[in-house]
Amino acid sequence: MTNNELMKEDLKHIFHPCSQMKDYETLPLIPIKRAKASYLEDFDGNKYLDCISSWWVNLFGHANPYINSKINEQIEELEHVIFAGFTHKPAIDLAKRLIDLTPEPLQKVFFADNGSSAIEIALKMSFQYFKNKGESRPLFVSLTNSYHGETMGALAVSDSGLYKDIYEDILIKTLHAKSPSMHSEEEALEDMRKVLSDNVGKVNSVVIEPLVQCAGSMRMYDATYITKLRVLCDEFGVFLIADEIAVGFGRTGTLFAIEQANICPDFLCTSKGLTGGYMPLSLVLFTDDIYNAFYCDYNEGKSFLDSHSYTGNTIACAVANAVLDIFENENVLENNLEKIKFIKDETEKFKSLKEVVEVRQRGMICAIELKEFELGKRVNLDIFQAALKEGIYIRPLGNVVYFMPPYCFTKEELKKMIDVTYEIIKAL
Ligand SMILES: *Cc1c(COP(=O)(O)O)cnc(C)c1O
Repeated sequence: MTNNELMKEDLKHIFHPCSQMKDYETLPLIPIKRAKASYLEDFDGNKYLDCISSWWVNLFGHANPYINSKINEQIEELEHVIFAGFTHKPAIDLAKRLIDLTPEPLQKVFFADNGSSAIEIALKMSFQYFKNKGESRPLFVSLTNSYHGETMGALAVSDSGLYKDIYEDILIKTLHAKSPSMHSEEEALEDMRKVLSDNVGKVNSVVIEPLVQCAGSMRMYDATYITKLRVLCDEFGVFLIADEIAVGFGRTGTLFAIEQANICPDFLCTSKGLTGGYMPLSLVLFTDDIYNAFYCDYNEGKSFLDSHSYTGNTIACAVANAVLDIFENENVLENNLEKIKFIKDETEKFKSLKEVVEVRQRGMICAIELKEFELGKRVNLDIFQAALKEGIYIRPLGNVVYFMPPYCFTKEELKKMIDVTYEIIKAL
């Protein structure tokens, strides 16, 4: 079948995520037939360099031979089993390994199957922790310009009008403090202090995306904010939830972004890169103190009764273990340093373009912010389509063009990604 035939079949029945379906009257919907390493291939035989890691999930390339072999091994043994009352070795191994790789106070793991669910779990646990201790603290604090997912709780702590405004009437009430990505660090911390001191005894936690607010136009801030926020959370006796769903697993240069702030959050949420872009899986790491607040006789009513059908799926856990094997065996973070520097050097040239406002980078995430488009103009779609014609798949967020390539990109592939994009922006 051809691209066009499949697109027509698709559009008869399928409602796609994050899309105005009418846009597909003029935009291509691309059926992908296969993928290998850094490239996607469609049904007409066109190849596209996957510069955004298939929505920030892929780490070691498509059809990675090692991960494929581990999946095949696991399928022969056990594909899935209920995770209440039963367990399996891939989950146990994964939990132990992640506990070893994260700060010492994080000793317990709760599994789920997607990022938003991990956020819901952290929020629910944080609220219930205080409830179990006889306090009701209904408020969560998050940063302006934040994104934590799109289920109702995760949406409520997000500050993304585009996804959220329409549901405002039915979302739980949350508080926002100024983001250090849009204000000075000092101003952001001062605002956080004000929000916390105005709501003493009502706030249970603060939730942040460490270092990069990815869906929020790839806005970035320094690790020092996180270090100081940790102190502030301790001062007010509230939890710190680190949403590392996008930034975890090496995207900012370190395995987890919080390492750069030298702190330990009370909850650490991970997903996306956790399975190298293969399987839906997420998990939340937290402390023994939190775990113990739920540990009691069943009749005391303090249990945490959250569950999903595919919680801790066996194949997904086996894949996550394979991802950790690759980090261990192939010196990934160290090898990325050279690629990070290469991206930095090669994107310097964007700064001289008249349309470019800022070039920013944290590790393997690089964003080029363009001047605001004229009202009604969707220049981002023009950039997307022009790049696609050249075999480059990028997906600008409004007026911000960004790169978040898988770590398997060679220097030649990085250069092609940057140079093609440069020529397109230059010609705007
Ligand atoms: C993607 C994302 C989520 C939500 O994860 P899903 O798997 O899409 O539900 C939450 N937080 C951040 C920072 C994300 O980037």
